[in-house]
Amino acid sequence: MFGLIGHSTSFEDAKKKASLLGFDHIADGDLDVWCMAPPQLVENVVVKSAVGITIEGSYIDSCFVPEMLSRFKTARRKVLNAMELAQKKGINITALGGFTSIIFENFNLLQHKQIRNTSLDWERFTTGNTHTAWVICRQLELNAPKVGIDIKSATVAVVGATGDIGSAVCRWLTNKSGIRELIMVARQQEPLLALQQELGGGSIKTLDNALPHADIIVWVASMPKTMEINVHNIKTPCLMIDGGYPKNLDEKFQGNDIHILKGGIVKFFKDIGWNMMELAEMDNPQREMFACFAEAMILEFENCHTNFSWGRNNITLEKMEFIGAASEKHGFSTIGIDKQKKPLAV
Ligand code: NDP
Repeated sequence: MFGLIGHSTSFEDAKKKASLLGFDHIADGDLDVWCMAPPQLVENVVVKSAVGITIEGSYIDSCFVPEMLSRFKTARRKVLNAMELAQKKGINITALGGFTSIIFENFNLLQHKQIRNTSLDWERFTTGNTHTAWVICRQLELNAPKVGIDIKSATVAVVGATGDIGSAVCRWLTNKSGIRELIMVARQQEPLLALQQELGGGSIKTLDNALPHADIIVWVASMPKTMEINVHNIKTPCLMIDGGYPKNLDEKFQGNDIHILKGGIVKFFKDIGWNMMELAEMDNPQREMFACFAEAMILEFENCHTNFSWGRNNITLEKMEFIGAASEKHGFSTIGIDKQKKPLAV
């Protein structure tokens, strides 16, 4: 059995969802009421893969909302309680979606194994980041030519290069994709220098210095809403892969020949018959989902019950190849540029 732990994109959305599900006592509550709300198992589903393997799964809403990020203890409690519920339900492999994997890592939740009378078994959880990284790389390789960019002569900037997903993307681009030049962007210098050493190349630039050189920009950092970026600094054509969460690049960049692709999203080969992606703002919620969620499904299809993606900067090329091959075998494909809205004129 697979599990997905998720959350609503905002407090407003969470209230709407609770109302739809008939949880009126929470729907009407303020943020303090929501801070106390326990996780909810909101849906069970049965899925058959393209090669005929049938699995069962559940979606658990952690009742976390991004407005709680500054409430450290609440965010921690939400994630741990949702993990406890997944384990108590006997779920073999559960993906930590949205902010939950970032809260797990950044708030060092590994120290909190004991939740009441449950000792969390880390082997039952995955961040899903290996599949997300692989999907972003394939989206880059498949879609750059569609917007007139030749990969072999392309300069690619990875914003969030030293993160778990970003470093895996940099590894793949350097060793597998055959790009001309890699530019790595993040705020802290030390991890950037360590990554440059590991890769044996790539240049380090600030965001402002990187943008004018990049034919392709991979965003794998959560961008503050207040960040100002000058679109006239951007080369055209330009492919931007929005791999961060929330996906808000299209609010910042609009221009002729600037193509923004939702990164880290996959599509299943047929309707799944679930409701859980309706509020995740997927264009086709019956088939599309975050790649991190799909990782838990793929691991269950493969009967691979282990914390496949875990910790920081442990994603190898071999693991990316394994999860990528299994993803295609079971009927997932990456979302492409052809179904995106036309870019607006400046
Ligand atoms: P990490 O915390 O491991 O990495 C974040 C990276 O972003 C670091 O390199 C960090 O470096 C950098 N960064 C953060 N803020 C800025 C900034 N203002 N400017 C430049 N760089 C910045 O995160 P993950 O790799 O786990 O996740 C990356 C993103 O992907 C997140 O937004 C996450 O929500 C999203 N995600 C998407 C999924 C999907 O399915 N589509 C699944 C899982 C995650 P430094 O601190 O030095 O700046």
